[in-house]
Amino acid sequence: MRQSRLFTKTRREAPKDEVSKNAQLLIRAGFIHKEMAGVYAYLPLGLRTLEKIKAIVREEMDALGAQELIMTSLQRKEVWEKTDRWDEAKVDVWFKSKLAAGGDVGFGWSHEEPITEMMTQYLSSYRDLPVYVYQFQTKLRNELRAKSGIMRGREFVMKDMYSYTADAAEHKKIYDAAIDAYLRIYRRVGLGDRTFLTFASGGAFTEFSHEFQTLSDVGEDTVYVHRGRGIAINEEVMRDDVLSKLGVARNELEKAKAIEVGNIFDFGGAKSEQLSLFFKNEAGENVPVHLGSYGIGVTRLMGVLAEVFADDKGLVWPATVAPFRIHLISLGKDGDEVARAAEDLYEVFKNAGLEVLFDDRDLRAGEKFADADLIGIPTRVVVGRDALAKGALEVTDRATGAVELITREEILRTYHA
Ligand code: ATP
Ligand code: MG
Repeated sequence: MRQSRLFTKTRREAPKDEVSKNAQLLIRAGFIHKEMAGVYAYLPLGLRTLEKIKAIVREEMDALGAQELIMTSLQRKEVWEKTDRWDEAKVDVWFKSKLAAGGDVGFGWSHEEPITEMMTQYLSSYRDLPVYVYQFQTKLRNELRAKSGIMRGREFVMKDMYSYTADAAEHKKIYDAAIDAYLRIYRRVGLGDRTFLTFASGGAFTEFSHEFQTLSDVGEDTVYVHRGRGIAINEEVMRDDVLSKLGVARNELEKAKAIEVGNIFDFGGAKSEQLSLFFKNEAGENVPVHLGSYGIGVTRLMGVLAEVFADDKGLVWPATVAPFRIHLISLGKDGDEVARAAEDLYEVFKNAGLEVLFDDRDLRAGEKFADADLIGIPTRVVVGRDALAKGALEVTDRATGAVELITREEILRTYHA
């Protein structure tokens, strides 16, 4: 992609009302556009990163044997009344509206209810189970405070998976496999060393739900981390009986601020019963289907990545989610030898299948470098007169700032697609 043609704009200032670091940087670097508090559009650069995160999540969901579908945003009141979650005293984030033809609709803030009700038309026998499905959905939530940029949107992308199994034993298999898949996802996006499987309240069927919490000073949650075991305990369940159940001592735990990047629940048969999702088991009895629900805040994850890896110059993307792998910067002036060498190199990189953003703009070197720092592509390759004379290219690692002079062949070997 030629930067001269890329639809984006870097800016020195973020909107005055934007207080979060992730949104300030993502707006300044041209990844997102702010529509209103908690509501952001994704521009080409931002969409590329979002799609990279989604691709990783999708791979891991598919590997679990889950199948992708997409449910609706408009929700029927009657479905949610069956579980007593239409009431705003119970769920305070509903956006609701009226149909012109009469009747109420809600905007999907979560999908356990409609998807479970849908399953009544598809699941009736033990032969139909297990079923694992997932979607990437734009959830709409009337969040009271939306001051954390894309980490807390009023409109945000969630990956939600649902498992329908015959019994607790079958449920446990997929639940444990989902925990492993989630931990792989956080590792693959670069957050593995600071994201912990966390015991939290909210299990409808079991004592705990499991959250995945990424340590960060801007997190809204407080967790107690056990580094040795690689787990954490949410403050809300930090009690002596919980500690003894988990076999950990208070003095082994480290208190930290964290942000919830995923949450998985075991609903048992409770929600299926409310929504009349029963199946005939092998003994011929009618029993409720066992439900598990597995969420990841995909756009929140992008915000967390922006937040935790940034430095004073801008964004710093891990290679797996960066909008481009290489930022090729030409220091040539239109048509001169350096510009021609850069054009040539751009073709070579493209043909090798490398994802390259090529800064072919007619700007001063300083402006190009400042933009490159702000955008945060992992590897910068500069084509300038000095390097050209040496037959080498200047390659800078965005994260460490390390600079080396290497040949184009070495670059192709190192950063092959
Ligand atoms: P929180 O306590 O942060 O409000 P939640 O308990 O409401 O989260 P869930 O309903 O379990 O979250 O949603 C699943 C995942 O979706 C969360 O783990 C989080 O990563 C993400 N998420 C929830 N609310 C938002 C939001 N307003 N903006 C972006 N992501 C969100
Ligand atoms: Mg919430």
